[in-house]
Amino acid sequence: MTAPSPNQLGDIYGRPLRDIRISVTDRCNFRCPYCMPAELYGEEYKFLPRSEILSFEEIERMARVFVDLGVAKIRLTGGEPLVRAHLTDLIERIAAIDPGIDLTLTTNGALLAPVAEDLKKAGLKRITVSLDSLDPDVFTAMCGRDNVHPDIVLEAINAAAAAGLTPVKINCVVQRGVNDHTVVDLAQKFRGTGHIVRFIEFMDVGTLNGWDMSQVVTAAEIVDMIGAEVPLEPVGANYVGEVAKRYRYADGSGEIGIISSVSQPFCGDCSRARLSTEGKLITCLFAADGLDLRGPMRGGASDDELKALIAGCWSTRGDRYSEQRSALTIRPRKRVQMFQVGG
Ligand code: SAM
Repeated sequence: MTAPSPNQLGDIYGRPLRDIRISVTDRCNFRCPYCMPAELYGEEYKFLPRSEILSFEEIERMARVFVDLGVAKIRLTGGEPLVRAHLTDLIERIAAIDPGIDLTLTTNGALLAPVAEDLKKAGLKRITVSLDSLDPDVFTAMCGRDNVHPDIVLEAINAAAAAGLTPVKINCVVQRGVNDHTVVDLAQKFRGTGHIVRFIEFMDVGTLNGWDMSQVVTAAEIVDMIGAEVPLEPVGANYVGEVAKRYRYADGSGEIGIISSVSQPFCGDCSRARLSTEGKLITCLFAADGLDLRGPMRGGASDDELKALIAGCWSTRGDRYSEQRSALTIRPRKRVQMFQVGG
């Protein structure tokens, strides 16, 4: 666990607030069954009305407040962040707060290729693109859209790399019996490209994806599968609190990451908070609710008052859900959904 510096916030376990993920929209152009299943989020589903979503001015203000409190990394996510109109304007605003901010974005890639250069010019530093399989049938099943081919995501990854949004990270959620047989192909595809594929254990986020442990392919199994083809060796973390455990190919052809939130939880170093689309501060991906910041902001709170609210919330934070999961794995009554708070 890293101790916060003297003027930085620490929670009850001394974990600093270093990293904020901002969900810029609850809408998504995909219907991944493990996140936003089509049968629950169809034509009739009412997403948040515009008035309830934070404006770019409000997001910029919150970002500035978080940076003042010690946040060094900002990830824009969603829903699908690229469905929000004029996103480059928001990126410009956030990048202008402090050139040192590690500003990044997570996307499914469907709308990325034509805008990759604009995102870079606006000040985005890096990008993470989700891609669960190269197999067209598996891909369409996992993105919930049968008119989308994985080539569109491959083109997006190439465009992002050409624009300099590097290293490109590629997120793959691994679900037993769904895409685990395509994991090695995905790893092989990007070996030697400089892109880093991060395999994510299927998590019990939200309450709607029918999660159970039998669908989780553990980090150890994933490392074994890939390592049987090309030997892997563990590498130390780039920084304390890094989400993915790193492995490099012994032949020097690159590295992969494994996000083992289920089998080897990493709450001890968790320095991440989330700002939901409607402006709630969420201190754990598995939280039931968050602290409303939009109400006070729209009610005229000063920056110092907002900082005090955030500090009060973070300093009492005791979340470590993933480490307690085995005791708590009974279905929760309420839990935030991932597309509302950002992955
Ligand atoms: N729409 C963007 C995308 O697809 O990358 C950003 C939002 S999405 C919620 C962020 C990441 O969360 C994606 O890589 C997605 O695969 C991952 N994710 C969603 N539900 C998950 C689950 N139940 N377990 C593990 N990862 C999940």
